[in-house]
Amino acid sequence: MTDTFKALVLTEEEGKVRSAISDLTTTDLPEGDVLVSVAYSNLNYKDGLAVTGKGRIVRRYPMVPGIDFAGTVEESRSPLWKPGDQVVLTGWEVGEKYWGGFSQKARVRAEWLVPLPDGMTAQQAMAHGTAGFTAMLCVLALEHHGLTPGDDAVIVTGAGGGVGSVAVAILAHLGYHVAASTGRSEIHDYLRGLGAAEIVDRGTLKPGKPLESERWAGAVDTVGGDTLAALLPTMRMESAVAACGLAGGTTLSTTVFPFILRGVKLLGVNSVLVPLERRRAAWDRLARDVPTATLDRIMQTIPLADVPAMSEEILRGRVRGRVVIDVNT
Ligand code: NDP
Repeated sequence: MTDTFKALVLTEEEGKVRSAISDLTTTDLPEGDVLVSVAYSNLNYKDGLAVTGKGRIVRRYPMVPGIDFAGTVEESRSPLWKPGDQVVLTGWEVGEKYWGGFSQKARVRAEWLVPLPDGMTAQQAMAHGTAGFTAMLCVLALEHHGLTPGDDAVIVTGAGGGVGSVAVAILAHLGYHVAASTGRSEIHDYLRGLGAAEIVDRGTLKPGKPLESERWAGAVDTVGGDTLAALLPTMRMESAVAACGLAGGTTLSTTVFPFILRGVKLLGVNSVLVPLERRRAAWDRLARDVPTATLDRIMQTIPLADVPAMSEEILRGRVRGRVVIDVNT
């Protein structure tokens, strides 16, 4: 059959999740009005949880994981898209509830797609993916709160990860003094190469007194848990933390003092169900605010077959920057 294509398929047997590369046809794909020929996907922390079965990400099996993809429209029953259009998808519970991007073809709803930004390749779009998109949403949230490059230092936690790396790169490009917090000494040069002006050892970010010396004009936190609890007492008067992650824990144990005595704001960021206009605006800013050379430094590209092993690595915190998946190799 000519329309056979490859996909990574997750199945569950007796509570154990298994992954295998399978041959599928377009008739296997779920309902949707746009069929996309996928060029690239990528690996996020959430994908790692889904592929290994270590997090309750997937709602039903069999599932094709992959929360992001970029490719070319092959068929469309929607006026929004026509064959040949270059498109990007992130979020919308794709790869969790709906079949996703670890596949050479995907069928989805037209309104979930955005156009590939001008000047960006599909591979570069997937170097960003949900991670870059989330990093940009964090920066937009801090800007909306009033942060400007003239202010004091801004800290990014989990800086060596996907969201963290892109956040460091964006903020540095915009002219901020960026402090990159990491637990890995071997990536200090990498982080400086992205524009970090100082490195903060994540071991020093431990909860202490309810209020400490005011240090940060803004923060992007991808770690959560004790790291976020340690940041809040060190935030400057009327500053804000954009909190998007849980790589270090989900429980937040803190006091109200930073909020009620310093007016610190905790800005929650969720990238999954963002309305279309904000999506397009964030993607346009990514195209503008992350130089291509920086993106090349952040990404590595792997074939589909390497996804299960790399999923284990991302959960161990051993992946640096962004992992792009070439689904056609
Ligand atoms: P990565 O795994 O690429 O990066 C996470 C980084 O966090 C690691 O590289 C490491 O950085 C640091 N880290 C890992 N474990 C620990 C730990 N135990 N204690 C402290 N730091 C730790 O993940 P992503 O960048 O893809 O995602 C980051 C977080 O953001 C995840 O929790 C993810 O679920 C969340 N996320 C949320 C989104 C949203 O919409 N809210 C969207 C996208 C991601 P280093 O080695 O430099 O210290």
